[in-house]
Amino acid sequence: MAVVTGASSGIGAATARALAAAGYQVVLGARRIDRVNALAEEIGGLGRQLDVTDEASVEAFVAGLDRVHVLVNNAGGAKGLDPVATADLDDWRWMWETNVLGTLRVTKALLPALVDSGDGLIVTITSIAAIEAYDNGAGYTSAKHAQGVLHRTLRYELLGKPVRLTEIAPGMVETDFSLVRFEGDQERADAVYQGLDPLSADDVADVISFVATRPPHVNLDQIVIKPRDQASARRNVKTG
Ligand code: NAP
Repeated sequence: MAVVTGASSGIGAATARALAAAGYQVVLGARRIDRVNALAEEIGGLGRQLDVTDEASVEAFVAGLDRVHVLVNNAGGAKGLDPVATADLDDWRWMWETNVLGTLRVTKALLPALVDSGDGLIVTITSIAAIEAYDNGAGYTSAKHAQGVLHRTLRYELLGKPVRLTEIAPGMVETDFSLVRFEGDQERADAVYQGLDPLSADDVADVISFVATRPPHVNLDQIVIKPRDQASARRNVKTG
């Protein structure tokens, strides 16, 4: 069984599809239950409502999931693009609650089921923002750094237990990410990808499916995946 958080769109939805195609029974979670249920029906999985910022929601989501082979911590995102000097504390709270504490809540709740499976795998979708800092991005980069450190610490703490850990750190992927970041401003979101060839959600899901189909002794620790057109968070050039 594989559990994917944030499976209602983008990388999470593509990952749910890819893991189902690889033979996993997939449990899909997100707040938009209609989307999650529609995809679950399409791939023969199970949709459940999940708000990773809400303890009771996480508890209800994991109820009855006793043996879990794969957990994909994907729910997350960014809000705003402000310098530290004018940082919006509510945006920061949203990013830390969703990316950091959300990953912590779900991982804690499913850890016994991952160990009990005898061959567990935790995949956490961080970002190149978990590795680099960039102007106006501190709310997101600090949250992604913290999420990355949480995940990497777990790799040490679980050594000797049958659980593998893989951090996937994507660069630019064209999803609803920028639409959410810019509060539904489609024009501003489109401008992020204009003139470039970004990754698709399927590109990332392909890699996650590869990770989840390696034999139990193989641990892919950290995978950074960027479009050819992007060298760092702030350096991108259309390949000519
Ligand atoms: P997306 O299309 O906006 O998907 C985000 C997903 O997270 C949605 O399914 C959303 O579902 C879910 N989510 C948000 N808040 C949630 C909450 N409180 N509880 C449960 N689910 C929640 O964006 P995406 O690009 O696929 O993002 C997926 C992950 O990749 C994120 O962690 C993001 O930081 C990371 N990432 C993205 C990029 C990129 O360029 N796109 C690059 C690097 C890393 P609901 O709204 O239905 O709850």
